Amino acid sequence: MGGLEQTFVAETFASNWIAPLGPQVDAFEAEFAAAVGAPYALALSSGTAALHLALLLAGVGPGDEVLVSTLTFSASANPVVYLGARPTFIDSERISWNMDPDLLAAALAARARRSRLPKAVVLVHLYGQSANIAPIQALCGRYGVRLIEDAAEALGASYGARAPGTLGWAGIFSFNGNKIITTSGGGMLVSNDGDMIRHARKLATQAREPAPHYEHAEIGYNYRLSNVLAAIGRGQLRVLDERVAARRRNFDFYRRALGDLPGLEFMPEAPWGRATRWLTCITVQPELLGVDREAIRLALEAEDIEARPVWKPMHLQPVFQDCESVGGAVAADLFERGLCLPSGSSLTEADLTRIVAVIRRTVGG
Ligand SMILES: *Cc1c(COP(=O)(O)O)cnc(C)c1O
Repeated sequence: MGGLEQTFVAETFASNWIAPLGPQVDAFEAEFAAAVGAPYALALSSGTAALHLALLLAGVGPGDEVLVSTLTFSASANPVVYLGARPTFIDSERISWNMDPDLLAAALAARARRSRLPKAVVLVHLYGQSANIAPIQALCGRYGVRLIEDAAEALGASYGARAPGTLGWAGIFSFNGNKIITTSGGGMLVSNDGDMIRHARKLATQAREPAPHYEHAEIGYNYRLSNVLAAIGRGQLRVLDERVAARRRNFDFYRRALGDLPGLEFMPEAPWGRATRWLTCITVQPELLGVDREAIRLALEAEDIEARPVWKPMHLQPVFQDCESVGGAVAADLFERGLCLPSGSSLTEADLTRIVAVIRRTVGG
C-alpha cells in the first residue's frame, strides 16, 4: 500500500458507506479514466468480469469464434467459453511476446474467404508491455471485428503517447493482488463507447430497469466493485508511477547483474512504447548457458525464492485442447525457455543481490 489508501477507506467508514457503489467508486472511475486517457470507465469486481461484459456486449454468443492471444493467463480466454463461444488462439511475435499481427491478418483473411468472421479479437498486453496495436486495430477495422484489449498486466505502460487498453473498442484492467496496483481484487472496463459502458453498468448491477420496484428485462450480473475497495484503488492510483519506476529498477538491476551471461536473454522492449516491466522475464538457451530454466527455478526454490515459468500458452492447455490455433511455436518456445524472476515493487537491493547470487552460482558464472 502507498499510504493514502487508509485515508480514503476511513472516508467510507466515516460516511458508513460500505455498500457496493458509492462516492469512492465514482471518484475511482473518474480518476482512472483520466489516468489512462479513456472517456468512460466502469469499476468492476475483477478483470475477468470486465472481459466477460465486454465480450457479451460485443455480441459474442453460442457458436461464435473469438481470436485470443495464446500466450496469456487463462482469464483472457475463459469468458469466451462462459458465453458458449470458442476461442481460437493466435501465436506471439518475438519482438514483444504479444499477438503477431501477420498471423492475425492471415487468420482474418482465411475467415473472410469462408464468410465466417470471428465476433471479436482479445488482444493481450503481456507482462507490462503493449502489443503492436496499430496494425491489429487496422485489421479489426477492415473486417468489422470488435477489438477488446486485455490490459490486465499493462497498467502504466505506453503505446506511443497512449495507454494500451484505450485504443480498441473496449479495454480491461485488473487490480488483483499480484498486479502492479491492487484493490485486493477488482477490475476496470474502459471504452470510447458511452452507450456500451452504460449498458455494462446496468448489467453489472443485476440489470435493474428504471422502476420503483425490481423490474428486469435482461439477465444481469453482480459485478460491481465495493465502495471500500474503490477507496483502496484511489490511493493505489496515486503511487502507480512509483510502482512502474520500482519495477523498471528491478529489471535494470537484473540486466546489469546478469546481462553478461551467454544464453540468458531478457524480454525485449518493443520500440513502440515503454514497458512497465511488471515482471522481469528472461529466456534461457541451455546450450549456451549450461543449464535450463528449470534448473534456475529449482535452485531459487531451494532458497525459498519463488520464480515461475512464463505463462503456459492456451493452445497447450488441456482445457482448450479442442480449440484451433494459428501458429503456436513462438509461444511454446517462450514457455519452454522463459522464467519470471521475483519482481515485487518492494524488493530491496539486498533481495535482488541474493537472487542474482543464486542464479550466478547455478550457471557456474
Ligand atoms: C490477471 C489477469 C486477468 C484477470 O484479472 P482478474 O482481476 O484477476 O480477474 C486477465 N488477463 C490477464 C492477462 C491477467 O494477467
